[in-house]
Amino acid sequence: MSSPDRYAVFGHPIGHSKSPRIHGLFAEQTGQNLQYIAQDVPADAFANCLAEFLEQGGRGLNCTIPLKELAWRAAGRCSKRAELAKAVNTLLVEADGGLFGDNTDGVGLVRDVCVNLGLALAGKRLLLLGAGGAGRGILQPLLDEGPDGLVIANRTVGKAEQLVREFAGVNGRGAPPLAACGFADLAGQRFDVIINATAASLQGDLPPLPADVLEPGGACYDLAYGTVPTTFLCWGREHGAAVSADGLGMLVEQAAEAFWLWRGVRPDTAPVIRLLSAERGF
Ligand code: NAP
Repeated sequence: MSSPDRYAVFGHPIGHSKSPRIHGLFAEQTGQNLQYIAQDVPADAFANCLAEFLEQGGRGLNCTIPLKELAWRAAGRCSKRAELAKAVNTLLVEADGGLFGDNTDGVGLVRDVCVNLGLALAGKRLLLLGAGGAGRGILQPLLDEGPDGLVIANRTVGKAEQLVREFAGVNGRGAPPLAACGFADLAGQRFDVIINATAASLQGDLPPLPADVLEPGGACYDLAYGTVPTTFLCWGREHGAAVSADGLGMLVEQAAEAFWLWRGVRPDTAPVIRLLSAERGF
Protein backbone atom coordinates (compact mmCIF):
# COMPACT_ATOMS: atom_id res chain seq x y z
CA MET A 1 0.00 0.00 0.00
CA SER A 2 1.21 3.55 -0.73
CA SER A 3 2.27 5.73 2.19
CA PRO A 4 -0.61 7.47 3.98
CA ASP A 5 -1.58 11.07 3.19
CA ARG A 6 -0.47 13.42 5.95
CA TYR A 7 -2.81 15.60 8.03
CA ALA A 8 -2.34 17.33 11.39
CA VAL A 9 -3.84 19.63 13.97
CA PHE A 10 -1.72 22.56 15.15
CA GLY A 11 -2.48 24.40 18.40
CA HIS A 12 -1.11 25.40 21.78
CA PRO A 13 -1.75 23.65 24.11
CA ILE A 14 -2.62 20.54 22.08
CA GLY A 15 -1.99 17.56 24.37
CA HIS A 16 -5.70 17.20 25.20
CA SER A 17 -6.80 17.16 21.52
CA LYS A 18 -9.25 14.43 20.51
CA SER A 19 -8.84 15.25 16.81
CA PRO A 20 -6.24 12.53 15.99
CA ARG A 21 -8.57 9.94 17.53
CA ILE A 22 -11.64 11.28 15.69
CA HIS A 23 -9.92 11.42 12.30
CA GLY A 24 -8.39 7.98 12.94
CA LEU A 25 -11.90 6.60 13.54
CA PHE A 26 -13.23 8.35 10.41
CA ALA A 27 -10.35 6.94 8.31
CA GLU A 28 -10.96 3.41 9.60
CA GLN A 29 -14.70 3.70 8.99
CA THR A 30 -14.33 5.02 5.40
CA GLY A 31 -11.19 3.05 4.38
CA GLN A 32 -9.12 6.20 3.75
CA ASN A 33 -5.33 5.81 3.85
CA LEU A 34 -4.22 8.75 5.99
CA GLN A 35 -2.19 9.71 9.01
CA TYR A 36 -3.33 12.52 11.35
CA ILE A 37 -1.15 13.84 14.17
CA ALA A 38 -1.34 16.61 16.80
CA GLN A 39 1.54 19.10 16.92
CA ASP A 40 2.16 21.68 19.63
CA VAL A 41 2.57 24.96 17.75
CA PRO A 42 2.61 28.31 19.59
CA ALA A 43 1.61 31.37 17.57
CA ASP A 44 5.20 32.54 16.99
CA ALA A 45 6.14 29.15 15.47
CA PHE A 46 3.13 28.88 13.15
CA ALA A 47 4.73 30.18 9.94
CA ASN A 48 7.78 27.88 10.23
CA CYS A 49 5.77 24.81 11.25
CA LEU A 50 3.30 25.37 8.39
CA ALA A 51 6.15 25.70 5.86
CA GLU A 52 7.78 22.51 7.18
CA PHE A 53 4.46 20.62 7.08
CA LEU A 54 3.91 21.66 3.45
CA GLU A 55 7.49 20.76 2.46
CA GLN A 56 6.91 17.30 3.88
CA GLY A 57 3.88 16.85 1.62
CA GLY A 58 1.11 17.62 4.15
CA ARG A 59 -2.33 17.56 2.52
CA GLY A 60 -4.47 19.35 5.11
CA LEU A 61 -4.37 20.95 8.51
CA ASN A 62 -6.69 21.82 11.38
CA CYS A 63 -5.81 24.88 13.46
CA THR A 64 -7.11 25.53 16.94
CA ILE A 65 -6.45 28.05 19.75
CA PRO A 66 -4.50 30.36 19.29
CA LEU A 67 -3.93 29.93 15.54
CA LYS A 68 -7.27 30.38 13.74
CA GLU A 69 -6.70 34.01 12.77
CA LEU A 70 -3.14 33.29 11.63
CA ALA A 71 -4.46 30.41 9.52
CA TRP A 72 -7.01 32.77 7.96
CA ARG A 73 -4.18 35.16 7.05
CA ALA A 74 -2.08 32.27 5.65
CA ALA A 75 -4.82 31.02 3.31
CA GLY A 76 -4.61 32.28 -0.27
CA ARG A 77 -8.32 31.62 -0.81
CA CYS A 78 -11.14 31.16 1.73
CA SER A 79 -14.74 29.99 1.90
CA LYS A 80 -17.35 32.71 2.49
CA ARG A 81 -17.98 31.41 6.00
CA ALA A 82 -14.26 31.62 6.85
CA GLU A 83 -14.08 35.18 5.47
CA LEU A 84 -17.03 36.20 7.62
CA ALA A 85 -15.48 34.54 10.67
CA LYS A 86 -12.03 35.98 9.91
CA ALA A 87 -10.84 32.65 11.30
CA VAL A 88 -9.84 29.34 9.69
CA ASN A 89 -9.88 25.98 11.45
CA THR A 90 -9.29 23.87 8.31
CA LEU A 91 -6.64 24.32 5.61
CA LEU A 92 -6.66 22.28 2.40
CA VAL A 93 -3.58 22.08 0.18
CA GLU A 94 -4.91 22.54 -3.35
CA ALA A 95 -3.57 20.79 -6.48
CA ASP A 96 -1.45 23.86 -7.38
CA GLY A 97 0.03 23.98 -3.86
CA GLY A 98 -2.13 26.95 -2.78
CA LEU A 99 -3.88 26.98 0.60
CA PHE A 100 -7.70 27.03 0.81
CA GLY A 101 -9.09 28.04 4.21
CA ASP A 102 -12.46 27.04 5.65
CA ASN A 103 -14.21 27.40 9.00
CA THR A 104 -16.23 24.30 9.89
CA ASP A 105 -17.08 25.28 13.50
CA GLY A 106 -20.45 26.85 12.68
CA VAL A 107 -21.73 24.03 10.52
CA GLY A 108 -20.48 21.60 13.19
CA LEU A 109 -22.44 23.38 15.91
CA VAL A 110 -25.63 23.65 13.85
CA ARG A 111 -25.49 19.93 12.88
CA ASP A 112 -25.05 18.89 16.48
CA VAL A 113 -27.81 21.17 17.76
CA CYS A 114 -30.34 20.70 14.96
CA VAL A 115 -29.68 17.15 13.74
CA ASN A 116 -28.14 15.23 16.64
CA LEU A 117 -30.07 16.95 19.45
CA GLY A 118 -33.16 17.56 17.28
CA LEU A 119 -33.59 21.23 18.27
CA ALA A 120 -35.15 23.59 15.72
CA LEU A 121 -33.75 27.14 15.99
CA ALA A 122 -36.22 28.76 13.57
CA GLY A 123 -38.52 31.19 15.40
CA LYS A 124 -36.57 30.86 18.67
CA ARG A 125 -34.98 33.60 20.75
CA LEU A 126 -31.25 32.86 20.96
CA LEU A 127 -28.67 34.15 23.42
CA LEU A 128 -25.02 33.82 22.44
CA LEU A 129 -22.57 34.24 25.31
CA GLY A 130 -19.12 35.34 24.13
CA ALA A 131 -17.78 37.34 21.19
CA GLY A 132 -14.38 35.70 20.68
CA GLY A 133 -13.18 33.63 17.73
CA ALA A 134 -15.70 30.82 18.23
CA GLY A 135 -18.62 33.23 18.66
CA ARG A 136 -17.66 34.96 15.42
CA GLY A 137 -17.38 31.60 13.61
CA ILE A 138 -20.83 30.31 14.61
CA LEU A 139 -22.81 33.55 14.28
CA GLN A 140 -23.73 33.39 10.58
CA PRO A 141 -24.71 29.69 10.60
CA LEU A 142 -26.97 30.43 13.62
CA LEU A 143 -28.59 33.41 11.85
CA ASP A 144 -29.10 31.23 8.75
CA GLU A 145 -31.38 28.95 10.82
CA GLY A 146 -33.92 31.82 11.03
CA PRO A 147 -34.22 32.51 14.77
CA ASP A 148 -36.72 35.12 15.97
CA GLY A 149 -33.78 37.15 17.27
CA LEU A 150 -30.24 36.77 18.56
CA VAL A 151 -28.58 38.68 21.41
CA ILE A 152 -24.81 38.53 21.89
CA ALA A 153 -23.73 39.12 25.50
CA ASN A 154 -20.06 39.54 26.24
CA ARG A 155 -17.83 40.60 29.14
CA THR A 156 -16.25 43.22 26.85
CA VAL A 157 -19.42 44.74 25.39
CA GLY A 158 -17.56 46.57 22.60
CA LYS A 159 -16.59 43.23 21.00
CA ALA A 160 -20.23 42.11 20.90
CA GLU A 161 -21.23 45.48 19.43
CA GLN A 162 -18.54 45.12 16.76
CA LEU A 163 -19.95 41.72 15.73
CA VAL A 164 -23.46 43.16 15.49
CA ARG A 165 -22.21 45.98 13.25
CA GLU A 166 -20.40 43.56 10.93
CA PHE A 167 -23.09 40.91 10.67
CA ALA A 168 -26.06 43.29 10.48
CA GLY A 169 -24.32 44.74 7.40
CA VAL A 170 -23.98 41.28 5.83
CA ASN A 171 -27.55 40.18 6.51
CA GLY A 172 -29.39 43.42 5.75
CA ARG A 173 -33.16 43.94 6.09
CA GLY A 174 -35.47 41.05 6.88
CA ALA A 175 -32.73 39.18 8.77
CA PRO A 176 -33.25 38.09 12.39
CA PRO A 177 -32.86 41.07 14.78
CA LEU A 178 -29.35 41.13 16.23
CA ALA A 179 -28.36 42.97 19.42
CA ALA A 180 -25.38 43.27 21.76
CA CYS A 181 -25.19 43.76 25.51
CA GLY A 182 -23.24 43.06 28.68
CA PHE A 183 -24.19 40.30 31.13
CA ALA A 184 -25.83 42.79 33.54
CA ASP A 185 -28.22 43.89 30.75
CA LEU A 186 -29.72 40.39 30.58
CA ALA A 187 -31.90 41.06 33.66
CA GLY A 188 -35.56 40.78 32.63
CA GLN A 189 -34.80 39.08 29.26
CA ARG A 190 -35.78 35.47 28.42
CA PHE A 191 -34.36 33.12 25.78
CA ASP A 192 -35.35 29.74 24.35
CA VAL A 193 -31.79 28.65 23.59
CA ILE A 194 -28.55 29.80 25.25
CA ILE A 195 -25.22 28.99 23.58
CA ASN A 196 -22.08 29.48 25.63
CA ALA A 197 -19.11 30.42 23.42
CA THR A 198 -17.08 31.98 26.24
CA ALA A 199 -13.89 30.36 27.44
CA ALA A 200 -15.21 30.61 31.02
CA SER A 201 -16.00 26.89 31.27
CA LEU A 202 -12.37 26.06 30.60
CA GLN A 203 -11.57 27.81 33.90
CA GLY A 204 -14.54 26.16 35.68
CA ASP A 205 -16.19 29.59 35.60
CA LEU A 206 -19.53 30.89 34.36
CA PRO A 207 -20.68 34.29 33.06
CA PRO A 208 -22.99 35.94 35.63
CA LEU A 209 -26.47 35.01 34.35
CA PRO A 210 -29.88 35.95 35.82
CA ALA A 211 -31.50 32.79 37.26
CA ASP A 212 -34.61 33.22 35.05
CA VAL A 213 -32.88 34.05 31.74
CA LEU A 214 -33.77 30.63 30.24
CA GLU A 215 -37.40 29.99 29.24
CA PRO A 216 -38.74 26.94 31.12
CA GLY A 217 -38.05 23.87 28.95
CA GLY A 218 -35.45 25.76 26.86
CA ALA A 219 -32.03 24.48 25.82
CA CYS A 220 -28.43 25.18 26.84
CA TYR A 221 -25.36 24.35 24.76
CA ASP A 222 -21.75 24.81 25.85
CA LEU A 223 -19.13 24.85 23.08
CA ALA A 224 -16.58 23.72 25.67
CA TYR A 225 -16.39 20.03 26.59
CA GLY A 226 -14.39 17.93 29.00
CA THR A 227 -14.09 14.68 30.88
CA VAL A 228 -16.69 15.92 33.38
CA PRO A 229 -19.84 18.01 32.72
CA THR A 230 -18.92 21.69 32.18
CA THR A 231 -20.07 24.44 34.54
CA PHE A 232 -22.55 25.76 31.98
CA LEU A 233 -23.96 22.32 31.15
CA CYS A 234 -24.65 21.91 34.90
CA TRP A 235 -26.16 25.43 35.05
CA GLY A 236 -28.61 24.42 32.32
CA ARG A 237 -29.64 21.24 34.14
CA GLU A 238 -30.15 23.22 37.34
CA HIS A 239 -32.21 25.94 35.63
CA GLY A 240 -34.90 23.88 33.93
CA ALA A 241 -33.34 23.17 30.51
CA ALA A 242 -35.05 20.34 28.64
CA VAL A 243 -31.73 19.82 26.81
CA SER A 244 -28.31 20.75 28.16
CA ALA A 245 -25.31 19.58 26.16
CA ASP A 246 -21.62 20.29 25.76
CA GLY A 247 -19.50 20.68 22.61
CA LEU A 248 -18.32 17.09 22.10
CA GLY A 249 -20.83 16.56 19.28
CA MET A 250 -19.81 19.86 17.67
CA LEU A 251 -16.17 18.77 17.81
CA VAL A 252 -16.96 15.55 15.93
CA GLU A 253 -19.22 17.35 13.42
CA GLN A 254 -16.68 20.09 12.61
CA ALA A 255 -14.09 17.34 12.11
CA ALA A 256 -16.45 15.47 9.76
CA GLU A 257 -16.87 18.61 7.65
CA ALA A 258 -13.06 18.99 7.43
CA PHE A 259 -12.74 15.30 6.49
CA TRP A 260 -15.31 15.85 3.72
CA LEU A 261 -13.37 18.86 2.41
CA TRP A 262 -10.09 16.91 2.38
CA ARG A 263 -11.24 13.48 1.22
CA GLY A 264 -14.60 14.02 -0.52
CA VAL A 265 -16.10 11.34 1.76
CA ARG A 266 -18.61 12.02 4.54
CA PRO A 267 -18.05 9.88 7.64
CA ASP A 268 -20.92 8.68 9.83
CA THR A 269 -20.56 10.80 12.97
CA ALA A 270 -23.13 9.03 15.17
CA PRO A 271 -21.00 5.99 16.16
CA VAL A 272 -18.00 8.24 16.86
CA ILE A 273 -20.02 10.55 19.14
CA ARG A 274 -21.52 7.48 20.86
CA LEU A 275 -18.08 5.97 21.46
CA LEU A 276 -16.48 9.17 22.83
CA SER A 277 -19.51 9.89 25.02
CA ALA A 278 -19.52 6.34 26.41
CA GLU A 279 -15.82 6.60 27.24
CA ARG A 280 -16.34 9.66 29.44
CA GLY A 281 -19.52 8.21 30.96
CA PHE A 282 -22.01 11.10 30.81
P1 NAP B 1 -11.46 33.34 22.53
O1 NAP B 1 -11.39 33.85 21.13
O2 NAP B 1 -10.30 33.44 23.42
O3 NAP B 1 -12.73 34.09 23.19
C1 NAP B 1 -13.02 33.89 24.54
C2 NAP B 1 -14.40 34.46 24.87
O4 NAP B 1 -14.70 34.08 26.22
C3 NAP B 1 -14.45 36.00 24.85
O5 NAP B 1 -15.76 36.38 24.49
C4 NAP B 1 -14.16 36.36 26.32
O6 NAP B 1 -14.68 37.59 26.71
C5 NAP B 1 -14.90 35.24 27.01
N1 NAP B 1 -14.42 34.92 28.37
C6 NAP B 1 -13.23 34.36 28.72
N2 NAP B 1 -13.19 34.13 30.04
C7 NAP B 1 -14.38 34.58 30.55
C8 NAP B 1 -14.93 34.59 31.85
N3 NAP B 1 -14.26 34.14 32.92
N4 NAP B 1 -16.20 35.09 32.01
C9 NAP B 1 -16.89 35.55 30.94
N5 NAP B 1 -16.41 35.56 29.68
C10 NAP B 1 -15.17 35.06 29.48
O7 NAP B 1 -11.86 31.78 22.55
P2 NAP B 1 -12.70 30.99 21.44
O8 NAP B 1 -11.80 30.46 20.40
O9 NAP B 1 -13.84 31.87 21.03
O10 NAP B 1 -13.25 29.72 22.27
C11 NAP B 1 -14.34 29.84 23.16
C12 NAP B 1 -14.79 28.46 23.66
O11 NAP B 1 -15.31 27.69 22.57
C13 NAP B 1 -13.65 27.63 24.27
O12 NAP B 1 -14.18 26.97 25.41
C14 NAP B 1 -13.34 26.61 23.18
O13 NAP B 1 -12.81 25.40 23.69
C15 NAP B 1 -14.72 26.38 22.59
N6 NAP B 1 -14.72 25.83 21.22
C16 NAP B 1 -15.24 24.58 21.03
C17 NAP B 1 -15.28 24.03 19.75
C18 NAP B 1 -15.88 22.66 19.54
O14 NAP B 1 -15.67 22.07 18.48
N7 NAP B 1 -16.62 22.12 20.50
C19 NAP B 1 -14.80 24.76 18.65
C20 NAP B 1 -14.29 26.05 18.89
C21 NAP B 1 -14.24 26.57 20.17
P3 NAP B 1 -13.84 38.97 26.43
O15 NAP B 1 -14.08 39.31 25.00
O16 NAP B 1 -14.44 39.94 27.38
O17 NAP B 1 -12.40 38.65 26.74
